[in-house]
Amino acid sequence: MAYDPDNIFAKILRGEIPCTKVYEDEHTLAFHDINPQAPTHILVVPKGPYVSWTDFSQTASDAEIAALVRTVGLVAREAGVAEEGYRVLSNVGVNGNQEVPHLHIHVFGGRRLGRMVP
Ligand code: IMP
Repeated sequence: MAYDPDNIFAKILRGEIPCTKVYEDEHTLAFHDINPQAPTHILVVPKGPYVSWTDFSQTASDAEIAALVRTVGLVAREAGVAEEGYRVLSNVGVNGNQEVPHLHIHVFGGRRLGRMVP
């Protein structure tokens, strides 16, 4: 799927739409989900124009890939959910019910989450 530069996360990354920022570095941005499904619900996005894990894994640099993984761990610690546990989830494409076509990782925590059923 071609990257749509007008998707909502692209606009957030360009500063055209506000977000509640949790963390930012050269390669990633983390912010609170606008419609939280748990007491902690943070989105972690790479800054590059990636829709899915398929294109991210094929075209992102090792530094971008490492930054994304590190940021997930960092925001979990900073949000105070690391000890009690949390869930990391990423929806991709039509079958994955991906709503925003910019690769993102959800970090949920702060309560006992239900069992995950596909
Ligand atoms: P997806 O279904 O995995 O693509 O999830 C997209 C997520 O983006 C949903 O949880 C939405 O609540 C969230 N979202 C949509 N627009 C915004 C926004 O402007 N700021 C923060 N989160 C958003």
